Amino acid sequence: MATEELAGRVAAAVANRGLHEAVARSVDRHSYAAIAALTPDVRRVYKARARAARLRSVRDLASLAEQFIREAERRRIVVHTAADGVEAVGIVLEIARQHGARRIVKSKSMATEEVELNRQLATAGMQVLETDLGEYIVQLAGQRPSHIVAPCLHMARDEIAGLFSREAGREIAKDTPSLTAFARERLREEFRQADLGISGGNFLVASEGAVVLVTNEGNGRMCTTLPKVHVALVGVEKLVADFADMTDALRILPVAATGQLITSYVSIVRGPAGAGEEGPQEVHVVLMDSGRSEILGGPYEEVLACIRCGACLDICPVYRQTGGHAYGSVYSGPIGAVLTPLLSSESEAQALPFLSSLCGACTDVCPVGIHLHEHLVALRARAAARGIAFPAEAGAFRALRRLWTPGRRYRLVRGLMRGALRLGGGAPQLRAWTKGRLLPPVAPRHVADLLIAEGLIEEGR
Ligand code: SF4
Repeated sequence: MATEELAGRVAAAVANRGLHEAVARSVDRHSYAAIAALTPDVRRVYKARARAARLRSVRDLASLAEQFIREAERRRIVVHTAADGVEAVGIVLEIARQHGARRIVKSKSMATEEVELNRQLATAGMQVLETDLGEYIVQLAGQRPSHIVAPCLHMARDEIAGLFSREAGREIAKDTPSLTAFARERLREEFRQADLGISGGNFLVASEGAVVLVTNEGNGRMCTTLPKVHVALVGVEKLVADFADMTDALRILPVAATGQLITSYVSIVRGPAGAGEEGPQEVHVVLMDSGRSEILGGPYEEVLACIRCGACLDICPVYRQTGGHAYGSVYSGPIGAVLTPLLSSESEAQALPFLSSLCGACTDVCPVGIHLHEHLVALRARAAARGIAFPAEAGAFRALRRLWTPGRRYRLVRGLMRGALRLGGGAPQLRAWTKGRLLPPVAPRHVADLLIAEGLIEEGR
């Protein structure tokens, strides 16, 4: 059963102490930097404006797509539309074949991960090299990224040095300058040799027909300018009306992701090189739907406003224990647990909303205010209605129901707990736990009492 495989991966990740340490180190660094970067008041203003602009764009996707195609074609960009991942991959393969591409360089893109583009290009005999440092590392390790913005955050420095040494055929020291020097030397040569560059896109600006890329390492602009042909594969939800509508999301994205006020590079692709200019001779944009339109107009629509900053992963107590691979999907953490079941019909995907403590921290931290924990609850209900559940959890709730039914038994347990808390935290272990934390008092009335009083449920059910 699919949920058992998911539970097995989670259990293995939870037992891996080295993984927790590596993940916690990175996500803490991101979270603390993000908190320090802006005052709460400024953050609130950016968040409100970015959310409003993103929702405006999401609700107007169809007409923005038409405008984008018109403007991009006016600038000699070839725009393709792909209904799903298979079509998107087919379009990229066709462009690569038309140009006889053998060597391809790629910048970081979750949309290309979503459709497993690298695997398909490799099957067609093409050599694809990831050029974002983190992506390059996970590619060498034969893995998928484990985080939206920090693909290799689960790996220790020793492991990375081992991978580089194997690749180099010589010992590469594990200090940062040695590691980055090796990657730079290896990747620079590839940029020069590549026939095709592939990127994603952080935003598609409809009024300009432009693709906007936000990167830190400069590899993105090398992928989009050095090869003769550039292909950007982008999810249709990345459309915005104009630069003004992008500004606040662009401001809040690096802050939420890594605590930077702006990334090192913001590249704007407005078409192929003109006469006498250096740059690609052809630029293609593949506008991919792949399930996005089905989310539009429904209860989960705001999820399309996501700017892929990864902040909800960093703060999530489940992600911190498991890392990204345990989710088994390209998108992990709270946004992955919401987005994946909406984009995929597989039963394991439907079970992902159960990977949450429902603490609501993801909703608090999201820079565009997506109500992630509410969507997680709704998607859990949907999964349960489809008969998808973790056997252990379902068993625990069945046992609790038996234990607490009829209602007077539940009230007895509640009374005992209230008494224990009044005695200063009850058992010694609980006292130790509450020393550094606040344990809220048990509510005077449980919601079940209110429902019984309203006659909405029966006593004992
Ligand atoms: S849901 Fe919000 S916090 Fe999570 S990746 Fe998207 S924008 Fe960032």
